[in-house]
Amino acid sequence: MSRPASKAAATAPAEKPFSNEVIYARLQKAVLEHRLTPGTRLVEDRLAEAAGVSRTKIREVLGRLAHEGLVTLVPNRGAFIASPSTEQARDVFVTRRMVEPGIARMLCESATAAQVRTLRRHSRLEEAARAKDDRPAIIRLSGEFHVLIAQMAGNEILLRLMREMTSLTCLIITLYDKPNTPACPHTEHVALIDAIEARDGAQAAACMTQHLNHIEHTLDLASHSIASPDIEALFD
Ligand SMILES: [Zn+2]
Repeated sequence: MSRPASKAAATAPAEKPFSNEVIYARLQKAVLEHRLTPGTRLVEDRLAEAAGVSRTKIREVLGRLAHEGLVTLVPNRGAFIASPSTEQARDVFVTRRMVEPGIARMLCESATAAQVRTLRRHSRLEEAARAKDDRPAIIRLSGEFHVLIAQMAGNEILLRLMREMTSLTCLIITLYDKPNTPACPHTEHVALIDAIEARDGAQAAACMTQHLNHIEHTLDLASHSIASPDIEALFD
């Protein structure tokens, strides 16, 4: 199926050999969708072959992911998807509770009608994924919602922090979530958008705090589940 190049550029399938950017995005998305789970070994040769690139390129991407805390590099053993400890998990939620209500409050002061529409559109995507019970999409869209809010608030440093926190949260949810807990409760995102649209900073901050508390309370620090991933499928 061919599409006009200009409009389809953002969604067009990438061609092998993949660029570092595409490989990075695929791996990050796989973490967000729980297709790569904590502790998974990332074998350079296998990744290089699957992506059609050199090991050097793979090493560059793994270095970037390690810098962001998503990958752990172990000397003489290789690269692994990070496994945040329960203590790190608590630290992530402490940080998110300090930062995200402030981001939500900030966005209330500057949100445009177009931005609110974008948030509503994103929320409809979440709803559709839920209706189809598409769990990888539900988890990814839930995380992306929080990144989108940070992006709209327009502070690059907070955005970078939120990207990192969201990815780490996905790993934490994989490790410590109770079975069948449905990522972010969709209604709580809708309540947050309502508060942003009403430019009610106090309400938006309260919604965010409650939402983060809710997510943290769904964590079960006793259970662990690690599945084996299909590396080749990431680069189909
Ligand atoms: Zn959420």
